[in-house]
Amino acid sequence: MSSSSLVPDGNSALLIGGKLVPGRGGVFPTVNPADGTVLGHAAKADATDMDAAIAAARTAFDATGWSRDHGFRARCLRQLRDALRNNIEALREITIAEAGAPRMLTSGPQLEGPVNDLGYFADLAENYSWETDLGIAAPMGIKSSRRLRREPIGVVGAITPWNFPHQINFAKLGPALAAGTTVVLKPAPDTPWCAAVVGRIIAEETDIPAGVVNIVTGDDHALGAQLVTDPRVDMITFTGSTRTGRAVMAAAAASLKKVFLELGGKSAFIVLDDADLTAAVSYASFGVCVHAGQGCAINTRLLVPRERHDEAVEIAARTLGNIKPGDPNKSGTVCGPLISDRQRERVEHYLELARAAGGTIVTGGARPERDGYFLEPTLIAGLPNSAIPAQEEIFGPVLVIIPHDGDADAVRLANDSPYGLSGSVWGADPNRVRTVVEGVRTGTLSVNGGIWYSADAPFGGYKQSGIGREMGVAGFEEYTETKLIATGV
Ligand code: NAD
Repeated sequence: MSSSSLVPDGNSALLIGGKLVPGRGGVFPTVNPADGTVLGHAAKADATDMDAAIAAARTAFDATGWSRDHGFRARCLRQLRDALRNNIEALREITIAEAGAPRMLTSGPQLEGPVNDLGYFADLAENYSWETDLGIAAPMGIKSSRRLRREPIGVVGAITPWNFPHQINFAKLGPALAAGTTVVLKPAPDTPWCAAVVGRIIAEETDIPAGVVNIVTGDDHALGAQLVTDPRVDMITFTGSTRTGRAVMAAAAASLKKVFLELGGKSAFIVLDDADLTAAVSYASFGVCVHAGQGCAINTRLLVPRERHDEAVEIAARTLGNIKPGDPNKSGTVCGPLISDRQRERVEHYLELARAAGGTIVTGGARPERDGYFLEPTLIAGLPNSAIPAQEEIFGPVLVIIPHDGDADAVRLANDSPYGLSGSVWGADPNRVRTVVEGVRTGTLSVNGGIWYSADAPFGGYKQSGIGREMGVAGFEEYTETKLIATGV
């Protein structure tokens, strides 16, 4: 199928109660960040649309057999995966155009990886041990046989950002559908088509029953807030900034619903003094350029041995200087555009703060001579870890380099952050590496270039990087409740 048939007439639709419908708020433009042109329009939902979507999800959960038929759900998930695969080239073009995702990433985490991961969640729906026998006990002298059941939590509100739209949407839809919940997905205003085309595929090419998945696009954050406060919604699964996560958690308190939060990061890349400095620093520098640094788990603080700091600055500057931001459509591009002009200005503001605090922009920092929201890969040196650009998430192709005074100091600096999402350790001595790994307080860690991302590996944050884990069995169980049944015997 071509991208034009997934987005007929350049307009996308909402998916509510199994029907593709226009938004009652009209439409809003979706923009190609690589050149600033309007790609087309997305349906703009209003509060009435969101209300209808929540009602449809509630009915599908309460009044159908969806939540109890594990085998049917597994079949539906595989059917969705296969339908997405059949449309993969159209999805690829939309993802590159709307999210500014470099083409090379669409065969991995920007598209094909998460589509394939739906198969993992289908297997879980079928093979998970929904009931556990806790055996017989005699509390208070009454002999009872106990069974522990897992049941789906109910209606889930999923709120997602724009940076890895498919990865994040499917990391929520996959386990939520496998667990038997029904979902209202509210994607980011910057990437409405990436979600809407999935809605069209669900409606037209799968047997997923009406109301099980509802997709509500719009450019007003109030739609997300409505989902969070509605008492018919049992759980919010949210990925986005720590600031919005805080607002979501506070607003969810009124109806006391479960919140599952995947938030921001400022992860440290620790280079120990016995590591191959060139390999480690080059790897870290390359990492901040991927998708123009718009990844929550990207390692944006590079901690290097003080005695080799200047050498590390040279290596990093050379690597960053060699990576030119370019057309995401081209197969060799690593660093595409930032998502919007607003985001680029936000990044540039941090560069101003770095200069004002006495830091040096060693390389980059400028806008290349081309249309679109590009920024040159940038290295900041000369700042302490306490400076704002070393503490706050920048979400652009920006690396801050900071010297450390040995392993314990590196751990101290890594942990001197409100975040705790990810990180890396590079070193030759496994015992020293292990001590450092055990000291760093983050949800995932890569050692000497190891890759932690996969469907069966739980991902999430310590501290202000979030609450809960996505992916893996742990990520699936987030969408369940436990029920303990004791029978007198
Ligand atoms: P954001 O927090 O601005 O928005 C995320 C989503 O929340 C959007 O859909 C937005 O419309 C919605 N929203 C905004 N205000 C809301 C409110 N008051 N109530 C409910 N919903 C509301 O984030 P963003 O700029 O779209 O994305 C970038 C952020 O996402 C970065 O901080 C990044 O680290 C984070 N992120 C985290 C992970 C992770 O897994 N930990 C993954 C990717 C991105």
